[in-house]
Amino acid sequence: MRIAIAGGGLGGLTLARILRRHDIDAVVYEREADRFARTQGGLLDLHPESGQHALEKAGLTDRFRAEARPEGEEHRILDPAGRILVHHRPEPGDFSGRPEIDRGVLRDILLDSLPGNAVAWRHRIVEATPRLGGGFRLTFDDGRGADCDVLVGADGARSVVRPLLTDAPLSAVAVLAELTAHDADRRHPELAALVGPGNLWCVGANRILAAQHQGSGDLRVGVTLRADERHLHSYGSKRALLEQFDGWAPGLTALIEAADGPPVVRRIEAMPAGTRWAHRPGLTLVGDAAHLMPPVGEGANQAMLDGAELAAAFATDPGSAIKTYEEAMFARIGPIAAMSARVQAMMLSPTAADEIVHFFAPTR
Ligand SMILES: Cc1cc2nc3c(=O)[nH]c(=O)nc-3n(C[C@H](O)[C@H](O)[C@H](O)COP(=O)(O)OP(=O)(O)OC[C@H]3O[C@@H](n4cnc5c(N)ncnc54)[C@H](O)[C@@H]3O)c2cc1C
Repeated sequence: MRIAIAGGGLGGLTLARILRRHDIDAVVYEREADRFARTQGGLLDLHPESGQHALEKAGLTDRFRAEARPEGEEHRILDPAGRILVHHRPEPGDFSGRPEIDRGVLRDILLDSLPGNAVAWRHRIVEATPRLGGGFRLTFDDGRGADCDVLVGADGARSVVRPLLTDAPLSAVAVLAELTAHDADRRHPELAALVGPGNLWCVGANRILAAQHQGSGDLRVGVTLRADERHLHSYGSKRALLEQFDGWAPGLTALIEAADGPPVVRRIEAMPAGTRWAHRPGLTLVGDAAHLMPPVGEGANQAMLDGAELAAAFATDPGSAIKTYEEAMFARIGPIAAMSARVQAMMLSPTAADEIVHFFAPTR
């Protein structure tokens, strides 16, 4: 049985790793040139029941613990005046919660656990077509092709494989502008202290100014605004972003001013919560390809759990694996996607600060 995995993100690599532990071969087709092709983004907190569980099934818990930063779980939520609304401090060295890890480091742990030929780099899939008699033909952007018996779409938010199973639409849920203040520990120690070892969220009406402390000492700064029809270009400079925070404490907006280079702006999209599809032999989806959700801390965790559960199903009974996986995945993801949509709407509401305080301390 030739298994092709479209996409070498966290979902696809977790699947490939656990399949291999069960002596099942799979090829991961990844569009990027190599593991260094781009920086992988910010911190992820891995949840015990999903991301950490998947790593355990992958036999990678020790590596994860060696690289993770439990102290990165610390988070602070401030209002626009800089007053602390919530301050969560984990116990030192405590792995029982949701320790943070740099996304690039996590991807490297998974890549290092696979043989060199498991990932076919520079293979951007442009089309997947069913073959007469079963299986799929993959066509790559340079004209090459490959056949497989089973195709798993792990190719993220704009999956090429997804339309073979569902025409669920994507809708914009927010605009995100990202910036980086490099070497902040040394160059901007006051901002590094403001953010602390983990995450900072400054929450105002319909907008969030957030920052993450990377293991490298950089600060990743993110501005989240409500999705609107404005051209993304209109948020494309630091000055345009600062205009969104008129009246906020200068000590907070200094996060934007300190960043190096202009913001990278994109729309954040989601699929409808509860998306499912009719089972089709030899074909399925994991991760964002299956259930793109607003980014409130579940997507990568669920992508990894998808990979772990699909691999386990293949190891148990290849004939019924996809059906077994999909039924369990649909039941698991439905409520999580609905919760993610609610939290995203709450975070960008006019009364977000009050609602967040209530969310973290319901009795106050
Ligand atoms: C700003 C932001 C913050 C987030 N924070 C968190 C968080 O704190 N915790 C959390 O759990 N989740 C978080 N998420 C969600 C998380 O990033 C995703 O859910 C997760 O990366 C999904 O993993 P994946 O493997 O399905 O897809 P991806 O990580 O997107 O990987 C897909 C892979 O497929 C490759 N690919 C795409 N198209 C093709 C093609 N045509 N051919 C070949 N290869 C292809 C890509 O290059 C990529 O390597 C966040 C998301 C955003 C946007």
